[in-house]
Amino acid sequence: MARYLDSVCKLCRREKEKLFLKGQRCNTKCSFDSKRGKNPPGEQGGSSRSKKMSEYALRLREKQKARRLYGLTEQQFHHYFVRADRMKGLTGDNLLQLLELRLDNVVYRLGIAPSRNMARQIVNHGHILVNDKRVDLPGYILKIEDKITIKEKTKSNTFVQKSIEQTDKYPAWLNFDKQSLTGVVVSVPQRGEFSHPINSQLIVELYSK
Ligand code: SF4
Repeated sequence: MARYLDSVCKLCRREKEKLFLKGQRCNTKCSFDSKRGKNPPGEQGGSSRSKKMSEYALRLREKQKARRLYGLTEQQFHHYFVRADRMKGLTGDNLLQLLELRLDNVVYRLGIAPSRNMARQIVNHGHILVNDKRVDLPGYILKIEDKITIKEKTKSNTFVQKSIEQTDKYPAWLNFDKQSLTGVVVSVPQRGEFSHPINSQLIVELYSK
């Protein structure tokens, strides 16, 4: 499966906003905070800002932003949209709920890994248990009351411990016990509780064309 291997900071510059793709590191050292960082790759300062985006471009950019934030390929992202569209309720909200409930995203939001990219690797390598069973699928969709823990051997890993120590804020839909290193999904994330402000209606409009 094709994965993006270039500097992830370029993706933030392309979307003209911080997407926190390096996780906790983005709070301390971010090239996007400099003047140069705010210009999309290949563009000089000032030239792009005066351009008015078409409606199609606006929708496309919103979809790309969401796709890049969660580190998905076009195909994977479209698969989530189709699934969200088949669910009851608003497709846009369903889409963002599915993305937030991915196991790699939850591992990141619990602070077990400092970025989604690292969370994906931790899950891939079988270090995460869901309801006491090993799950190595980053795209596994969690449900309310699912319990997320770290494999016993991995709990003492300094990389994981450091990430957990540096995390003190959790979304309201997740609980994390730092003693047992156990997280629980307490509710389905709602609008306002997603990782990043994304106008999901624009994504729905893009795919509905
Ligand atoms: Fe984006 Fe983080 Fe790079 Fe800043 S440091 S541009 S937020 S990936």
